Amino acid sequence: MRKPKIHLSPPHMCGRELHYIKEAFDTNWVAPVGPNIESFEKEVASHVGISDAVAVNSGTAALHLALSVLNVGKGDAVFCSTLTFVASANPILYQGAEPVFIDSEPETWNMSPLALRKALHIASLEGRLPKAVIVVNLYGQSAKMDELLLICNYYNVPIIEDAAESLGSSYKGKASGTLGTFGVYSFNGNKIITTSGGGMLVSNNIASLNTARFLATQARDPEPYYQHHTIGYNYRMSNLLAGVGRIQLQQLEKRVDTKRMIFRKYYHALGDIDGISFMPELDNTRSNRWLTAIAIDEEKTGVTVGQILTAFKKENIEARHVWKPMHLQPLFKGARYYSHQENIHIAEHLFVRGICLPSGSNLSENDQQRVIQCIRDVLEKKRKKRFYILGEYEVMGE
Ligand SMILES: *Cc1c(COP(=O)(O)O)cnc(C)c1O
Repeated sequence: MRKPKIHLSPPHMCGRELHYIKEAFDTNWVAPVGPNIESFEKEVASHVGISDAVAVNSGTAALHLALSVLNVGKGDAVFCSTLTFVASANPILYQGAEPVFIDSEPETWNMSPLALRKALHIASLEGRLPKAVIVVNLYGQSAKMDELLLICNYYNVPIIEDAAESLGSSYKGKASGTLGTFGVYSFNGNKIITTSGGGMLVSNNIASLNTARFLATQARDPEPYYQHHTIGYNYRMSNLLAGVGRIQLQQLEKRVDTKRMIFRKYYHALGDIDGISFMPELDNTRSNRWLTAIAIDEEKTGVTVGQILTAFKKENIEARHVWKPMHLQPLFKGARYYSHQENIHIAEHLFVRGICLPSGSNLSENDQQRVIQCIRDVLEKKRKKRFYILGEYEVMGE
């Protein structure tokens, strides 16, 4: 019989979410307007310590609104981390703009300040500075925001922090997602807290957020009839789901603690193996450890990421490659890309070696042990095989 499936990061409901759903039903606020939306926005804004927030139906929509508010259009360039999920970069294409991809650095796996400085320097020489830089906080780990902000401020280019994976993380005491001009959170089913689908745009610039709210509700002019002078979207979050989000938000700190504990268990069980390394946590930052990510050195372990993923599949364990960098995607063929240093490509290096391990906040101890054992078994089998070959070789050499 097949063993029960272990998921990568499944939704984790506490049960009380139904309270607000029921209330919305009872009061018939079953619409993309209603009291839960406003409350959820205020609660998220206050939780992360920022002026205001706009609740929308996905993190992708929040990113798209940020680009729209910044007037990104045809012919503009937008810089973006290359090591990310495609949703970070797709909105650049929605606006008809040109994405330019920036490599990672090894200490956070996020945007390399060296690569960014070079890219902005060249863009400024060409007289074509980007309209925005989208900085991703991968798997919950904050990027080197001070360095990135310093460079961007020098060139006067706003940062959009893609904090879809890093809600609950912090950078030098500040909440991840609140350091740029805009921040974006996602409440997709796999994220640390969820509304099944949803997102949030946050900022200290209230006027910009009001523009985003206007664009997210079909850009309807304040007239007694339906009048529109610009393109709008239907991006608002539903009042039902905002109710789910309000309860989920109350669980956030607990979820972060649990995810960090899952990371620690993996680290204790596998950290001593030569050839396995863990995604680092930069000093003065606290990652929510949304996903525990490891890198496998094939030379040292004799094992490839593909072999481990195959073994997981047999054991009915869901795990993933680290994101395939955007500059390697067929979709972005021909796009410009700046590496960390000359001939040093960090994102490509991580893509070849990286695996995301099951990290659901509802992962049982038993199931985590299954994951650990599976990795140990693959490595052990390989080690024995190598020993055997080495043994034969020695015999032959005698
Ligand atoms: C999940 C995710 C998004 C998109 O969020 P959705 O709510 O699924 O649209 C954007 N960027 C990153 C890095 C993500 O992981």
